[in-house]
Amino acid sequence: MRSSEDKEAGRFWDKVIKGPRPGDCWIWTGAIGDDGYGRFWQNVAAGQRMWRAHRFAVALVLGGGDLSAHDKVRHESCDVPLCVHVTDGLDSHLVLGTTADNNRDRSEAGRHANMYSLRRSGGRRRDQAAHSRELRDHLLAHGWDDDFRLLLAGYSPDQEALF
Ligand SMILES: [Zn+2]
Repeated sequence: MRSSEDKEAGRFWDKVIKGPRPGDCWIWTGAIGDDGYGRFWQNVAAGQRMWRAHRFAVALVLGGGDLSAHDKVRHESCDVPLCVHVTDGLDSHLVLGTTADNNRDRSEAGRHANMYSLRRSGGRRRDQAAHSRELRDHLLAHGWDDDFRLLLAGYSPDQEALF
C-alpha cells in the first residue's frame, strides 16, 4: 500500500516545476480544469480519484495523504491557482484550514457572495482558466524565464509589446 502511495506522489511531483528561488511558486504543469486549478487523477483501489492539484499537494505534505471535504485549502502568500508550493513551515504558499476559518476570512474581506459578485466571478473563472493554461504552456515551452515571471505577475508580455 505504502509503495503505491509513493508512486502516486512521484507521478504528482513529476508534473511540478519549482521556481529557482526558495520563495518562488511551484507550478503544476499537468491538466487544468475550467476553474483554472490543476487536476490530478490519483490511482486508488476503486479506480481513479480526481483532485484539484493544489489540494492533493496539501494532502501529501500536510494531510497524511488525504483530505476531507471539510479541509479547506487556500493560497496564502501567492494568488496563483496552479501553485502547489506546500511545506510544513512558514514558507508554505498554501494553508490548510476549516470551513469556519474560510467563512470568517471571506466576511472579513467583505467578499460575501451576492448576485453581482457571483456574476463577476463567473467571468473571472474563465479568465483564470485561460491564464493558467497560458502560464503552464509558456513554462513547458520556455522554462522559468523573464516572460514567465511577467505572466506570473498577471501581465502578458505580448500585450505589453503593443504599448
Ligand atoms: Zn505560490
